[in-house]
Order: sequence, then structure tokens, then C-alpha cells
Amino acid sequence: MLYNNNMERRTERLQDLEVDTFAIDEAIEYGFKTRGQVVTLNPEMVMNSRENQSLKSIIQNAQLVIPDGVGIEIGFKILGKNNVHRIAGIEYAKSMVKKFYEEKLPVALVGAKQEVIELAAENLKKEFNGLNIVYLHNGFYDDETVMFEELKKSGAQLVLVALGSPKQEEFIYRLKSDMPQALFIGVGGSFDVWSNKVERAPEFYQKAGLEWLYRTVKEPSRFKRIFPALPLFVLRVVKERVSKC
Ligand code: UDP
Repeated sequence: MLYNNNMERRTERLQDLEVDTFAIDEAIEYGFKTRGQVVTLNPEMVMNSRENQSLKSIIQNAQLVIPDGVGIEIGFKILGKNNVHRIAGIEYAKSMVKKFYEEKLPVALVGAKQEVIELAAENLKKEFNGLNIVYLHNGFYDDETVMFEELKKSGAQLVLVALGSPKQEEFIYRLKSDMPQALFIGVGGSFDVWSNKVERAPEFYQKAGLEWLYRTVKEPSRFKRIFPALPLFVLRVVKERVSKC
């Protein structure tokens, strides 16, 4: 723990995973003070963690697990818990960039295609004039040890990793103990959105928690990934509820 953090985590359990119930502002404050690994959890990851023990343990050992997407919120509702509200990972990550910018602290970006990461960095710098991006590397590399050394040397205190799941969670887990001053967030496809290469869903879909549906319709190859994970996730959580009755 880097700063004197007087905040306690308030979590709820879903499929053996503890998920934080903080509102976004509290989650930002907690992440900023604590540092370490933030997991932006969605139903696909919950389902993967059932078979992938390493992913499960990484999530269990994360410093903060935010409910990214309506699926997790629905999961908790099935369990009778109405106190977990989704926080879009992309918004959390952007708010963190703002926070580190305001505090004049160094930021690193890892992941996505070279062109995408460059455009994303450029757009972030336009939005946050003077943002201190000390390291940038695309997500298609042969040897991560070189990147780890470079990242450590960079002194970055916020490291956003866009490699998709579980690659980004594993990457962060391997690195975090060597960079105790840093906050790491796995941000999935956020750089693609920030580069303006991929549009976010219209606000209606975002507000309704249906961004995933919009993206799947626009990009049908995502269908395979989401289905059957989503209905299986609901089924699993219903079983969890029934077993507790
Ligand atoms: N990616 C990468 N290296 C890889 C695989 C993926 O940098 O080996 C990037 C990819 O270019 C994209 C991001 O990881 O920018 C993940 O995108 P995806 O849409 O899969 O993430 P999601 O938000 O669905 O988790």
C-alpha cells in the first residue's frame, strides 16, 4: 500500500469471486491510494475462471474487482443483492487517466496495434494537455521481459494494459510486485475506442447496459465469445442461488 488508505473494501461474492461494491468515485479513490491490480470483471471472465485456476487466483488476489457491465449486476440481482452497480471499465480507466494527469504522475500504455496505441495516446494528450505518457508499447510482442524492464525503468504509476482477457490479467499479475508504486488496469478494447478506430455504442445502449449487444451486432465475430458464455453464466448463478436456499 502506497498511501495511508483508510478505506476498507466492501465486496460481495459471486461464483467464488469477491467483487467490489464501491460507487465509481470511491473506486477511483481506492485504486489511486492502494495501487496494485484492478480487474474489470465481466461474465465471460467469471466463466473462464471456472476452468482457468490461474485466472481465478489472479482475480482473487486483485486489489480491486470492478463489475464491468450489466451481466455482473444481473448476476448479483439473481443472488438477491441489489447493491452492486456496474462501472464501465473504459470509464473507470479514463477517470484514472484524468486523476493521474491532475496529480502530474507518469502513465504507461501497453497493448493493441501500434497504430491504435499511437492514436489513443495522441487523443489522450489532446484531452489532457501535458499528460505525461512515459511508456508506450503495442500488444504484439515476442518477449515480455524486455517490456517489463522498460516499464520498471519508466517509473510509470498508472499502467493501462489492453491485451484482452486473460492475457492482460496475467501480464499485470506477473509484473505488479516489481512495480509496487503502480496502479494497473486491464482495459480490453479501450485503446481501440480512444483511437477512434472503433466507436462506442450510442448513449442509449451505454445507459441501458447493452453496449455488448450493440458491439456484437456490429462485429458478429464476437458472437462466438459471448455465447454461450452469457446464458451459461446466468445458469451458473441461478444454481448458486438455488444451492443457498
Ligand atoms: N490485443 C493485443 N495483443 C494480443 C491480443 C489482443 O494487443 O495478443 C489487443 C487487441 O488489439 C485489442 C485488445 O487487445 O485492442 C482487446 O480487445 P478485445 O475487444 O478482445 O477486448 P475486450 O474489451 O472484449 O476484453
